[in-house]
Order: sequence, then structure tokens, then C-alpha cells
Amino acid sequence: MARNPIQYQFGLSLPAFRDQYGTEAQCRSALFQHRWPKRFVCPDCGNTTGYQLARGLCQCHHCHHQTSLTAGPIFHATYLPLTT
Ligand SMILES: [Zn+2]
Repeated sequence: MARNPIQYQFGLSLPAFRDQYGTEAQCRSALFQHRWPKRFVCPDCGNTTGYQLARGLCQCHHCHHQTSLTAGPIFHATYLPLTT
């Protein structure tokens, strides 16, 4: 039986994966780095300054648009924890 190349990826063991993404805070940090690798960018006006609010929201300094870290096609409207 052939191995599934996606299921059997080399280089990241389950313990290493748990060490990197085992908590909600680690997942949020990794997602933030993936979404805004250099700094926050407002999806509404493109401004690069903002601040984080409670509940995982980021607000733009310029237009006060609030966006969720999980807004987007993959995580949109999910209530599952990021660790899931
Ligand atoms: Zn903005």
C-alpha cells in the first residue's frame, strides 16, 4: 500500500508538532506570524499600525477597522480552538 505523501511528511514529529503548536497561544502566535509576517496590515485601508484587542481582534489605528486573526476562508466563522 502506497504511503500518502501528505500524511507522512518528513521532518516534523508529533512531539515536535505538539511542542510548536500545543497551546492556543502558540497557535495564535504562529497564525499571526503567517498572516502578517512583518507587521499588522489593515485589510480595509492597508495601514500598518494597529493594536490587539481582547477576543483575538486587531484594530487599525487609521480607520478603526477590526479584524479577527481567524478571519478568512480556512478559519472563517469557526468556533473550534486553534489547537484542533
Ligand atoms: Zn484600516
